[in-house]
Amino acid sequence: MLPDPALNLLAPEALDADGLRVFNPADGRLVARVRRYDRAALSAIIDEAEAARHPWAGRTAKARGDVLRDWFDLVRDNAEALARLLTLESGKPLDEARGEVTYGASFIEWFAEEARRAYGEVIPPHATDKRILTFRQPVGTCAAITPWNFPVAMITRKVAPALAAGCSIVVKPAEATPLSALALERLAREAGVPESLFRAVPAFSASEAGDLFCAHPSIRKISFTGSTHVGKILMAKAAAQVKRVSLELGGNAPFIVFDDADLDAAIDGAMTSRFRNAGQTCVCANRFLVQDGIYDAFVSRLAERVDAVRVADGLSCSSAMGPLIDRASVARVAALVDEAVAEGAVRVTAQASIPGGGSFHCPVVLAGVTHGMRIAHEEIFGPVAPVIRFHDEDEALRIANDTPFGLAAYVFTAQAARQWRMMERLEYGMVGINDGLISTEVAPFGGIKESGFGREGSRHGLADYMNIKYCLVGGL
Ligand code: NAP
Repeated sequence: MLPDPALNLLAPEALDADGLRVFNPADGRLVARVRRYDRAALSAIIDEAEAARHPWAGRTAKARGDVLRDWFDLVRDNAEALARLLTLESGKPLDEARGEVTYGASFIEWFAEEARRAYGEVIPPHATDKRILTFRQPVGTCAAITPWNFPVAMITRKVAPALAAGCSIVVKPAEATPLSALALERLAREAGVPESLFRAVPAFSASEAGDLFCAHPSIRKISFTGSTHVGKILMAKAAAQVKRVSLELGGNAPFIVFDDADLDAAIDGAMTSRFRNAGQTCVCANRFLVQDGIYDAFVSRLAERVDAVRVADGLSCSSAMGPLIDRASVARVAALVDEAVAEGAVRVTAQASIPGGGSFHCPVVLAGVTHGMRIAHEEIFGPVAPVIRFHDEDEALRIANDTPFGLAAYVFTAQAARQWRMMERLEYGMVGINDGLISTEVAPFGGIKESGFGREGSRHGLADYMNIKYCLVGGL
């Protein structure tokens, strides 16, 4: 079979006949083999990134922003091929892949503009003969480790602010989805990002790469998006050199629907929030908390919508939902559903037909779920909507906050006073009111508790790649 034309986005030297195998989750076929890097090669790449950062940081912020703007234009010009590559390696439907490319590119555009707004301060001094000011300076050489569920956006929202701030960055993409990362690297190079300043490096071993990032003295910051388990390992190892760390980790988002909610809006929000990317999104609604009076209507309307979802290969134009990333994920999700049913949950959706040969799981709505069940506490990362019943606002809040995670939460209610109370009392980094889609480059994305810390997007996303230096001028 001829290689897919979308692979032309990769630099020839990124491909390697003996390299890492990348499979299409929709049919299990080999898409490409790419070059991998061992510890010695990664270490040399970090040394080069360290050397490259000084002349880059020496450019004006506008000059750095101009290069980022050219990168944004190239990503936009190649959006269709990038989206196809993304679907080939991740399985997500082509329309969703196009949406991710647009979303991912928006971070490059945003930080191209923000580069010029890294302002310092002049602070009224504590003595008449002194003056106090602060500068913001780039953190230095950074390392990033990214997951497979958003292979474009998870990279641009780290690389664009790093470059805008004047840092260099080495990114280890997920083993399952290195192609988008390599395509982005090539487009950045074409746009004029100096070689060595941003490298995408599929690794022989994720833990070896993580260990090296934590141990190499030139790495000043590690930005990680992925599971809480791995985030904790990296945080512990980075402590040895007190490296700066940003962690975007797992979630267990509650989606709370009150009796007075606009049911149509809540169902639309539920579909987007739960079933986008086949449920493999960290901010996905992981559990639905629905008030007594609207519970039955919500469950039956949601089941109706879910039963109409077409599950197919992401490249097919009829696909509304693609496969999960691999067969292990299918088995894990199926086991969670089976366990919940054995504990008394009721499957209210029909078993949708799914294509053979790939790692598909059909979408499911479970009614009668209780807060005590495992499915209400674990990140499902699949197309399953467990629906829990609650009686009043206090009970909803108690259930919603009873988790070690704190990434995103959603609330549907018409009452303005309740909207404010929920925004303030939900222990989450992000809260969506009457909306199931909260991600945008202009807002600070990130969690609290075991969902991590650090913010991506917005002006805070740039600050995460900068140090504050305070200077005092005396003897005036
Ligand atoms: P994962 O297993 O933690 O993998 C994420 C990345 O870490 C991959 O590049 C992986 O490499 C690497 N990795 C694995 N073990 C490592 C180790 N010991 N040391 C260093 N790196 C290591 O997570 P995942 O299953 O791919 O992704 C799903 C998780 O990511 C979910 O929990 C989801 O909520 C979270 N996520 C969070 C956000 C957010 O913004 N909060 C966004 C997206 C996803 P390999 O692929 O080579 O194994």
